[in-house]
Amino acid sequence: MMTLPSFEFLAPQSTKDAVGLMDQYRDRAKILAGGTDLIPSMKNKLFEPEVVISINNIPELKKIHFDPESGLTLGGLVSLADVGHNPLVTENYPVLAEAAKKIATPLLQNKGTIGGNILLDTRCYYYNQSHFWRKAVNNCMKKDGDICRVAPGGHRCYAISSCDTVPVLYAMDAVITLVSVKGERKIPLREFYQNDGMAFNKLLPNEILTQVQIPKLPLGFRGAYMKLRRRQAIDYPMLGVMVGLILDDNGICLEAKIILGAVFPCPWEVTEAQNILIGKKISEKEIEEASEMAYNTAKPMDLTNFRPAYRKRMVKVFTRRILQNLSQQAVYTEEVLA
Ligand SMILES: Cc1cc2nc3c(=O)[nH]c(=O)nc-3n(C[C@H](O)[C@H](O)[C@H](O)COP(=O)(O)OP(=O)(O)OC[C@H]3O[C@@H](n4cnc5c(N)ncnc54)[C@H](O)[C@@H]3O)c2cc1C
Repeated sequence: MMTLPSFEFLAPQSTKDAVGLMDQYRDRAKILAGGTDLIPSMKNKLFEPEVVISINNIPELKKIHFDPESGLTLGGLVSLADVGHNPLVTENYPVLAEAAKKIATPLLQNKGTIGGNILLDTRCYYYNQSHFWRKAVNNCMKKDGDICRVAPGGHRCYAISSCDTVPVLYAMDAVITLVSVKGERKIPLREFYQNDGMAFNKLLPNEILTQVQIPKLPLGFRGAYMKLRRRQAIDYPMLGVMVGLILDDNGICLEAKIILGAVFPCPWEVTEAQNILIGKKISEKEIEEASEMAYNTAKPMDLTNFRPAYRKRMVKVFTRRILQNLSQQAVYTEEVLA
């Protein structure tokens, strides 16, 4: 049986106290939100913090606010269940709600939080294993080893971004607020992630994520997120494709966002495919060209229990399927893809 290592548990009552503790302990501490990833990772000895700082006693982090002009603000501790079911989200950002409902299981959605999803560790077949298993293959560079087991000749880690809400938030230009003892900074998600499985985001060791802000969606916006996983009932994404379009009254594409999740260590915007669509009335020709471009851009590595060639092929299938639905519907409805 895998047991938790011993640690000191602290539960501050305010953000000010929490950032004070983070500043004191830095790399020796970990923030506990829902714990749905942190706790299994600690059992696997992927993280061995001396101190665990729970932010669950800070009510302000659980707030949801919607303003028709400025958009939606989610506290870092808002549960995935609330993202999936709260009317402020389902009515104004249905694609985000659908993505949250595709995460793990309803039980895990009750515990897991939006902040934890945004900060979720990157995943890889050789990393997300028990300590016993990893030791048997001499570890990997992300934890205790020297080389990457996926690309032994390479010099960096290829573990993939596996957070389902992130491609959607990315396409909607979400901005996160990070707080430390020095004050707060706001950073757009598209500037927060990095293409490195070990240093995959720019969170500093003394910072806490307090808010996610999603601007009001432009008129004519329609979007959909599709996810590939082995078991529909529970698994992490092996691929996620988010497409967001803004079409004018004549069906001309004013803006396009195509974001791939679970292919690279960070969400990947396929700008070349977007450019094929912008300024055009989207027909089968543009759909075929844009899906082909997304397919060519995706370079999945052999680090999940699906073959990379299959994940790559599904990039094209999902992109094409979403574009066909979004461009043909007067008003997009999620049922179309169900
Ligand atoms: C069986 C299983 C299936 C899963 N399937 C999916 C899936 O399909 N899709 C998916 O996206 N995820 C999946 N997950 C992962 C996880 O449940 C979610 O990503 C969830 O949103 C994580 O949130 P949490 O609050 O539990 O994070 P935690 O586990 O509490 O934290 C995750 C990380 O973020 C840090 N952190 C959390 N909140 C903050 C904050 N506010 N400020 C600073 N640091 C913070 C923690 O220190 C930790 O490093 C799955 C997990 C399990 C166990």
